[in-house]
Amino acid sequence: MAEFNNTNLADFSGVWVFCEQRQGKLQPTVLELMSEGRKLADDMGVELCGLLLGKDVDGMAKELGAYGADKVYIADSPLLETYTTDAYAKVICDTVMEKKPEIMLIAATNIGRDLGPRCAARLHTGLTADCTHLDVDVEKYAAFLKEASTLPEAQIDALDRSDRNLKMTRPAFGGHLMATIICPRFRPQMATVRPGVLKKSEYDEAKANAVVVEKLSISLSEADIETKVLEVVKEAKELVDLTGAEVVVSVGRGISKDVETGIKLAEELASEFGGVVGGSRAAIDSGWLTADHQVGQTGKTVHPKLYIALGISGAIQHKAGMQDSECIIAVNKADGAPIFDVADYGICGDLFKVVPMMIDAIKAAKA
Ligand code: FAD
Repeated sequence: MAEFNNTNLADFSGVWVFCEQRQGKLQPTVLELMSEGRKLADDMGVELCGLLLGKDVDGMAKELGAYGADKVYIADSPLLETYTTDAYAKVICDTVMEKKPEIMLIAATNIGRDLGPRCAARLHTGLTADCTHLDVDVEKYAAFLKEASTLPEAQIDALDRSDRNLKMTRPAFGGHLMATIICPRFRPQMATVRPGVLKKSEYDEAKANAVVVEKLSISLSEADIETKVLEVVKEAKELVDLTGAEVVVSVGRGISKDVETGIKLAEELASEFGGVVGGSRAAIDSGWLTADHQVGQTGKTVHPKLYIALGISGAIQHKAGMQDSECIIAVNKADGAPIFDVADYGICGDLFKVVPMMIDAIKAAKA
């Protein structure tokens, strides 16, 4: 591996987003990251770039531009058509060592969780996994930019950039506190970010047309790849799209006295709104719903227009995944349940009595 000095912070500039695509489709989280990356890049006065790997993926650059990318670097090769850790890590690390971005954001998907730590270890830098919030110290940046604007270009690199740290926030100690982590000594600063926690900006046609595309010349051969993908088999069962749903009706341990009826009621209520059913970890661990339904710190983060919690106590780890919903309705028979602290409307009662009344009322309103 080439010599890579990543302790001279002034050598590094720009915010990068790894643009994960699968079978020619960008992962939705990439657009969330791009939108947030735009804000960070604007705060820092630097370029926002996408790094896109695959085969025949040029068509995606426009969409990345529409969500904020100034530039998209494309590594195009048949060896990158399907994800392998070896190939992707090699191309990303080679490119980072050459172009020296200051920040590298990766979606915390299964692929991102595999790729991020591998690249961070190889680049000898820090990575904060599973972030829920990103920030830069705008005041310190403003001071930096002000000083930089008064100096000739040749002197800007000599300025102290040590305050230009990305603040990467993630839940710690089982979600009981939020830890903000910095990587002050090495670059790039790397973070994987949970899908669904950052807001996607609006599609901007003008920006889509303005994006600059740069094809990378990469060095990659079959000998670099230890594994061979023989076949890609899609999950036979359709997984529930919790993060994309506008209405989520979740059930918790409160349905335990009649699980079948509890889930049926939740499904019926959800279908009245064209929504989907989610669950607390207790509902998933009890085997009442499959893991793709879990909302919370170790499940999905959702911010639908309407979130209805049925028989869920509102543990901090559950709230972490739903408290940013636009409107929250909670049904719980204990009036002191913590879920009521984040609910816009709280109904204290037995869900088996309350939910049929809600369904009837909605049907009557529609009639
Ligand atoms: P309970 O806490 O048992 O609450 C059941 C509620 O139902 C009670 O409030 C009760 O009053 C009410 N109830 C009972 N019967 C009725 C009825 N007939 N009508 C109305 N209300 C009724 N949890 C998650 O949800 N998602 C996560 O991602 C997650 N990640 C975690 C990660 C870690 C590291 C840890 C330590 C925990 C995590 N948990 C997570 C678990 C979390 O701490 C709670 O244990 C869990 O959320 C509790 O689920 P619950 O609210 O369904 O059950």
